[in-house]
Amino acid sequence: MINFETINAAVDNKNNKFIMESKNLWNAVLGEIELQISKPNFLTWLKNSELVEKKEKEGLALVGLPNNFAKEWVKNRYHKLILGSLRALDSSIKSVDYVVKTQNPVVLVPSLNAKKSLSVSSEIQPSLVESRIDPKTNLNPRYSFKNFIVGSSNDLAYAAMQAVIKEVGVKYNPLFIYGGVGLGKTHLLQAAGNAICEKSEKIRVLYISSEKFINDVVWAIRNKRTDDMKKKYRDVDVLIIDDIQFIGGKTATELEFFYTFNALYEKNKQIILSSDRPPAAIPTLEERLKSRFQVGMVADIGYPDYEMRLAILKTKIQNQETHIDEKILEQIAAKIQKNIRELEGILNKVIFYQQYKNEKIDTKKLEEIINETIQVSAKNITANEIIKTVADFFEISQSDLTERSRKREIVEPRQIAMFLLRELLKLSYPHIGERLGKRDHTTAIHAYEKISREINQNPGLNQKILMIRERVYKT
Ligand code: ADP
Ligand code: MG
Repeated sequence: MINFETINAAVDNKNNKFIMESKNLWNAVLGEIELQISKPNFLTWLKNSELVEKKEKEGLALVGLPNNFAKEWVKNRYHKLILGSLRALDSSIKSVDYVVKTQNPVVLVPSLNAKKSLSVSSEIQPSLVESRIDPKTNLNPRYSFKNFIVGSSNDLAYAAMQAVIKEVGVKYNPLFIYGGVGLGKTHLLQAAGNAICEKSEKIRVLYISSEKFINDVVWAIRNKRTDDMKKKYRDVDVLIIDDIQFIGGKTATELEFFYTFNALYEKNKQIILSSDRPPAAIPTLEERLKSRFQVGMVADIGYPDYEMRLAILKTKIQNQETHIDEKILEQIAAKIQKNIRELEGILNKVIFYQQYKNEKIDTKKLEEIINETIQVSAKNITANEIIKTVADFFEISQSDLTERSRKREIVEPRQIAMFLLRELLKLSYPHIGERLGKRDHTTAIHAYEKISREINQNPGLNQKILMIRERVYKT
């Protein structure tokens, strides 16, 4: 007769032994790593890590992390360190792989039930994937009409845009969309660009922010390459310029834009523009440009009403793994009224707290999150603290950020630092450029706009920034 109890006891014993051994081994590894990286980074990334399995045959160690974001981060940054110390302590280990643990306490059973204790959500949620901007059109494929909510505040702008998409260059030319910050101008313009490209590959679309346009013009004049520039902007069927208000007051750029406008207009090419105010209210814009802007169609985007805000929140959580109470969504929609970017920002924070920190969000916690976000500038933080925190977070030196380094791995941290200096301290762009690598103010503007654009589209970026902000405010 087989004695199951004895077998079970033996298996249990073996499991216990594995648990003990792996715990000790992992603690030793952590002890070593702790000495080599900063404390906040250690606490953020490795404190909740575990050695979940060791495959003796392959010499493979599986390290478990609480979520996909941490998994990717640790794998990208600390792999060498981890592999090095693991091998130094246990020579049978040849390689390391990383997995996401389930939220529940992990049952440490080697190989047999390993699958049960590991979640495979990593494949489903590509949170670190950057959005891919099409180099030909400059369009970001994430902006589409599928995730664009139409309501009373934007239905006119939306309808005009649909007419343009249907008959490019025929009906409303130029189409001029204006409205306040974070109300969906960029989304509408880019979605239109994408829709036109989808309709026909033959139509050449070019999307550009006016700040990039200004840079191009200045650069071309300085380098005597104006012909190239002319070709680039005049050789398209649809030219979309975002935030055109920045062009006002820059004579050379205005003049160049005027010529481009005329060249395109005469050939019945479509021009789509956005601005934070109507043409007549752009103070330094030349009269002839103002009147050019008004010959087509001018449509505004206003503040979204409650229903629309709620609808936006609901579409945003459709693809999320976490469930968020209807009540919480309603509360966010009720509270944040004048800026969709802010609406998304709060939602992302709620998701972050729930998913990453495993905290249940109730009414009180939400209130806290909203207040924290709205009154961020209450605590007196300094530029130095922000720069230091960003450098530390990315494990780079402060001088990498503040000197003229062009290393690739510095680009994102520096843009994030620029973004935070603007967002949290409202420093001027020239000042920010000067502080971070003696760069021109247009670089700072570019960084700020890029990050603000991407932050709600790219969950990985958003998480990084939330974590940095949290460190800035909590230390
Ligand atoms: P603006 O260019 O006017 O400052 P954006 O287009 O950048 O605003 O919009 C801010 C954020 O709000 C973006 O993440 C965008 O996707 C989202 N958003 C704006 N309007 C809508 C809408 N009608 N439906 C869904 N999301 C929207
Ligand atoms: Mg915009």
